Amino acid sequence: MIRLFVGLELPAKLRERLAGLGAGIEGVRWVDEENLHLTLRFIGEVDEAQAEDIVEALDRVQVPPFRIVLDGLGTFGAGVRLRAVWVAVQPSPPLEALHRKIERAVVRAGLPAEGRRFVPHVTLARLGSVAAREKLGPFIAYNAGFRSRPIRVSSFTLFQSFLTGEGADYVAVERFDLALEEA
Ligand code: ATP
Ligand code: MG
Repeated sequence: MIRLFVGLELPAKLRERLAGLGAGIEGVRWVDEENLHLTLRFIGEVDEAQAEDIVEALDRVQVPPFRIVLDGLGTFGAGVRLRAVWVAVQPSPPLEALHRKIERAVVRAGLPAEGRRFVPHVTLARLGSVAAREKLGPFIAYNAGFRSRPIRVSSFTLFQSFLTGEGADYVAVERFDLALEEA
């Protein structure tokens, strides 16, 4: 079985900047610079045949290229239940449209529909120790004003996720270009 998800790759300079935000704060599982991404659809474990159907369906997804802006910080969970810290995305109808089409494509390929609301985000850190949680409040306050330049989205990516003891590693298995004109 292979563990897959669909997402956006981020420009190297932006990943470098994002990775720099948490430098110096220990006890937190920071996402490695090369792994920073925006998840559009988590797929999970599938077999080869399913993976091929998914690729075929994703290949038909088409929206014009667009831009997104990362803006502000958010969390999953709060207080003692804080699980993850992430950078938010400015509301983006084109991103929503891409997400919707990808969702339809993977359902067409035979996957169960995602029941949860789409919260576009770039995860920076997952929680490690309790002590680390206390350091994240100030970190979030300090970086609340984070904002990226407009990021051009001209493709999306099918990633394979390799879970290791020390966090996951993601490998791009297929890139899908967004074209200005419908082919
Ligand atoms: P780990 O699970 O070891 O903490 P990870 O979450 O980075 O590592 P995966 O579980 O393979 O690795 O997840 C890949 C991507 O999909 C990550 O961006 C993760 O946040 C996201 N993701 C994982 N599970 C779900 C889910 N059920 N719904 C939405 N997104 C998910
Ligand atoms: Mg996970």
